[in-house]
Amino acid sequence: MKYISTRGKTPAASLSEAIAQGLASDGGLFVPEVIPDVFSEIFSEINTKQSLENLNFSEFAYQVLKPFFKNDKLAPHLENICAKAFNFPVPLVTLDSQTSVLELFHGPTNAFKDFGARFLALCIDKSESTSLSKKMVLVATSGDTGGAVAAAFSEFTDIPVTILYPNDRISVRQEKQLTSWGPQVKAFAVDGTFDDCQCLVKQAFQSDLWRKNYHLLSANSINIARLLPQMAYYCYASLKYKLLHGTEAGFIIPSGNIGNGTAALWAQQVGFPIHQIIFSHNANRSVPDYLQNGSWAPQPTISTLANAMDVGTPSNMERVFHLFPSVSELRKHLSAQSVSDQSIAATIKSCKEQGWGYIFCPHTATAAYTRSLQKQGHWILVATADPAKFDSVIEPLLGQTLPIPASLQKILSLPSVRCEISADLLSLQKQVLFDL
Ligand SMILES: *Cc1c(COP(=O)(O)O)cnc(C)c1O
Repeated sequence: MKYISTRGKTPAASLSEAIAQGLASDGGLFVPEVIPDVFSEIFSEINTKQSLENLNFSEFAYQVLKPFFKNDKLAPHLENICAKAFNFPVPLVTLDSQTSVLELFHGPTNAFKDFGARFLALCIDKSESTSLSKKMVLVATSGDTGGAVAAAFSEFTDIPVTILYPNDRISVRQEKQLTSWGPQVKAFAVDGTFDDCQCLVKQAFQSDLWRKNYHLLSANSINIARLLPQMAYYCYASLKYKLLHGTEAGFIIPSGNIGNGTAALWAQQVGFPIHQIIFSHNANRSVPDYLQNGSWAPQPTISTLANAMDVGTPSNMERVFHLFPSVSELRKHLSAQSVSDQSIAATIKSCKEQGWGYIFCPHTATAAYTRSLQKQGHWILVATADPAKFDSVIEPLLGQTLPIPASLQKILSLPSVRCEISADLLSLQKQVLFDL
């Protein structure tokens, strides 16, 4: 399997090369050259509820991902990578006869980002390096990526991690998950938005001074190794739903930078029984507007209650355009909804107090709201984070204290180091490069 750039101006790369490069040299994003028909190969073996239950998620993920690793240096390691990366449960919880929730928040940092971050860290750990300079991961985060990347790289590698996050725009508990990892991980609160953080990362990648000192690795969802494993849980949940209920479900996906959503579109393309896909956005509505108007006009980022989705210019949209160049074709596979802060708050309250009795994080609440607008069909809501990470939003609404998962409790008890910088490369350089 080869990987090509969405901009088509660089030669096809192997998977290992695409992972090491992050961004293709023509500025595009890597996508698989062909979409293999994974479903027909797998379904011939897993066609009863029993046979799916006999297979744990990591083994299932290995089966789904095998064709994407074909002929690559990493292929012999894939089974082991899946076993180590996905060592936590992936429950599909029934809410009512036509609605389930796929809980993706049982990893070490309580958000779905753990899937991609752990998989990426293990792929990099298993890749032989040809570079002589010291590696460093540099990552911008709107809240949850940084924590997942910090946790994964400190568990599986000794590569230092530098994280940039927008000051005062993430929750206190999210910030603890960025700043409590000890000397291997440096986290900086940037005076600006997520887009400013992403811009600083891009500048560092282009700077000769940085490149002279470090072999920089990108861990954002532009890296193909973040997206591929996310495909596996859509395949798994869609098959499980079909075997349990005898009918296909659609997914409603809380979306920001569209990494998770792109993975769902790929899962549908490789043949799994996914009826329909809806991206659920907060007030950052570039994608819903595009599907409505047919013209792509990214907007400045707006701060919302669902902060990990505060993205005005979703970078993975380039992969979606590559898959469906025309908006009319895209509309056959995808719809999108923008949800206001007011509706997020009302949904968190009503889903707990009436009906389902379930507590949603503010991101997943956008999906629950979008579900309430669907008149028919079966739906799987994709739960992207544990509500306990967003206690400051949820507890005042519900008037109750949320239980804290053990992994979060542990991080909250550790000391943390907080460092503020202004949104320019020089400030970052002083902090990161000065001690060379
Ligand atoms: C990152 C994140 C999202 C958005 O995912 P994308 O892949 O960026 O679209 C949604 N919810 C939570 C909790 C997240 O951390």
